Amino acid sequence: MKPNSETSESVLHAEVVVLGGGPGGYSAAFRAADLGKKVTLIERYSVLGGVCLNVGCIPSKALLHMAQIIHEAEEFGQHGLSYGKPALDFDKIRAWKESVTATLTQGLSGLVKQRKVNLVQGTGKFTSPNTIDLQTDAGIKTIRFDQAIIAAGSHPAKIPVFPNDDPRLLDSTDALELKQIPPKLLIVGGGIIGLEMATVYYAFGSEISVVELMNQIIPGCDQDLITPLFRRIKKQYKNIWLETRVTSIEPHEQGLKVFFEGKDAPESALFDAVLVAVGRRPNGPFIDAERAGVKVDEVGFIPVDKQQRTNVSHIFAIGDIVGNPMLAHKASHEGKVAAEVAAGLKTAFDALTIPSVAYTDPEVAWMGLTENQAKQQGIAYDKAAFPWAASGRSLSIGRKEGATKLLCEKGTGRILGAGIVGPNAGELIAEAVVALEMGADAEDIGLSIHPHPTLSETLGFAAEMIAGTITDLYVKKDKP
Ligand code: NAD
Repeated sequence: MKPNSETSESVLHAEVVVLGGGPGGYSAAFRAADLGKKVTLIERYSVLGGVCLNVGCIPSKALLHMAQIIHEAEEFGQHGLSYGKPALDFDKIRAWKESVTATLTQGLSGLVKQRKVNLVQGTGKFTSPNTIDLQTDAGIKTIRFDQAIIAAGSHPAKIPVFPNDDPRLLDSTDALELKQIPPKLLIVGGGIIGLEMATVYYAFGSEISVVELMNQIIPGCDQDLITPLFRRIKKQYKNIWLETRVTSIEPHEQGLKVFFEGKDAPESALFDAVLVAVGRRPNGPFIDAERAGVKVDEVGFIPVDKQQRTNVSHIFAIGDIVGNPMLAHKASHEGKVAAEVAAGLKTAFDALTIPSVAYTDPEVAWMGLTENQAKQQGIAYDKAAFPWAASGRSLSIGRKEGATKLLCEKGTGRILGAGIVGPNAGELIAEAVVALEMGADAEDIGLSIHPHPTLSETLGFAAEMIAGTITDLYVKKDKP
């Protein structure tokens, strides 16, 4: 992507400069431009989109879709539809995945031009409260700004004692390149990245082992939502070791020898490759924020208020660099808030929830209060969990392990939280988010006519269970 409208002067002026061109940064830049600001967007790479679009959400979803096709085709063999073993052409698979991201990055280039955002390529670091120096191929360029929005993101956490230079030790970016399909793959970290990549590599033929420090995969989620996923992958994967840590990894010619400490894991085992997916770290320490007077905490996050302002009032920060959850949809909303406040609007980040989705098979999605949180906070709630084994649509797609759980406030019936496990849970959770934002109660959801037969009905059924009006299940009533 070529920088546009860049001047040859060594000092550029921007009313708003945005540092970082991921989903948070480009949303901020576009919104600020739409509000009439003269915007410069700084991105170190030659394409916009950041981790999400280039080496995260989008390429992983392209590969996960292939994994889904492989599994569905295989599983429908038992129902009389057989295709035989899939033939995998990894050059074509990689090319297809890259074409998906290329289409999107080209789209972003078009949006940059249409909005007359000044896109500059280089690595930006603050030199004062109103200047950023940009390291480019052509040397240093200074950008003087009135306001700045920091959207510099995060990077994969590394475990220092591991042999991090060994090409068989992968992070999520390496794993998405699909350079090899290791016969035996160990995944360190049973979080979202680890389990999504496990889904992909299992479909492509790797024998998968997962090691997770906590007593549950995806530890932030309620256990009852995880159980259907856990049951399914337990049958597929060679090992899932919980409450276990990797103490060291020794590189050998035959593979990586991994040493474990924990409940059921062996003392050591040999793997062809190890994917480390133990979280991400904010890029706060790498932008010389202190030269602008911007506070960065000991972890590397930049603290902000509800208007995304840092401690320096004309400098804002958004996305992974301001805190968890590190999710693109949080970043893009925060980016719009920062841009609007920079343009003088009275906006604040006041979303009631940021939904989470693990695009595993089955998918797991949740929003609002989890049941664990409700218990910890002593909030009285009514709960309903509609089993997908009673959903005609779920059975029609050959799946019955899913569940849709709804938590409502005791007394008022107002929705507090929801969790869904099953195919397409990530799509279905959006209805619960809207319901929460609108202050809906169980009756509102149950009385909204959901199309039949759909998986979306399961949220309506869960609401009917709370309202006591369900007919698709028999729920024994307490005696009056
Ligand atoms: P994560 O925090 O979701 O999961 C990391 C897991 O590793 C945790 O379960 C943790 O207990 C475990 N762990 C930590 N140290 C360990 C160790 N030494 N040994 C074994 N296990 C260990 O992090 P992630 O999966 O790496 O994802 C990073 C970020 O990216 C997260 O914020 C995530 O939400 C985001 N992300 C989101 C999506 C999505 O929305 N679908 C997809 C990918 C990534």
